[in-house]
Amino acid sequence: MKCSLCNKRAFFKGPLGAYCEEHLIESVRERARKEIEGVNGKILLAVSGGKDSLVLMDVMTHIYDKEKLMAVTVVEGAGSYRLKEVEVAKKFAQRLGIKYYYVTFKELFGLTLDEMVSRGKFSPCTYCGVFRRRALEHLAEKEGAVVATGHTLDDEAHTALLNFLRGSWDDILKLNSRVRLKPLRKVYEVEVTAYAKAIGVPFQEEECPYIVTRPSLRARFRERLFELEEEKPGTLLKWRETLERLGTPERKVSYCKLCGYPTSPNREVCRACELAMEVGARVPKRLRP
Ligand SMILES: [Zn+2]
Ligand SMILES: [Zn+2]
Repeated sequence: MKCSLCNKRAFFKGPLGAYCEEHLIESVRERARKEIEGVNGKILLAVSGGKDSLVLMDVMTHIYDKEKLMAVTVVEGAGSYRLKEVEVAKKFAQRLGIKYYYVTFKELFGLTLDEMVSRGKFSPCTYCGVFRRRALEHLAEKEGAVVATGHTLDDEAHTALLNFLRGSWDDILKLNSRVRLKPLRKVYEVEVTAYAKAIGVPFQEEECPYIVTRPSLRARFRERLFELEEEKPGTLLKWRETLERLGTPERKVSYCKLCGYPTSPNREVCRACELAMEVGARVPKRLRP
């Protein structure tokens, strides 16, 4: 099988065609470049030691000014799974020549994720999601940067499906927002994996320990969508492009009276502060109201 763009042997056949290593890399970077068009300030890359993160770092250093990039890992717990993640991300950032550091839930909020989970009544993903988002928002504010995450096209589709089932149409449209950058949002998971192979990324994927014990709806969507793509390659990308044309919902915000961060218009106290009160954690105040 040949690359669809040149005469070389294809090393990967994905939903968008067969590619040689060079053209796969180029095609991924090109899509990422479009996602960050018009941005020229500092970018804070939110990374773990997983392959999506490492690919995000690699892609960004090739399409953006290295001096304006930095990578950070938000560490929820204290287990060895988390420390390994930091090691992998740190080494890779060093190899690429970008600044890297990590922060822990404990130092930012006073509790680890495990401590929150054992004290609170919601699922681990609730605390993890809310506080992780807040951690990044806070760090970005401190750095005067925008956050970029390694979410892929598949991740976006799973999120959209979950929101569809909840009937939250606004949250589906919010996927179009550029408050946070997602350079890989038009790149398939399988392409990210192939890219990682092509550049020789040293990844061992370790699933979140909470996911392993409670397989989510998200994990099941993954399988179904995979089958759908097999039957009709390119479906997800077409869906993503159509969604984009619908624009973003009007952004109405009010500000949390405790921490000062933006929250939904019908709230006085944000979700992070609410959860922090439940479990006895603290939320850092917004620096520039
Ligand atoms: Zn080629
Ligand atoms: Zn708050």
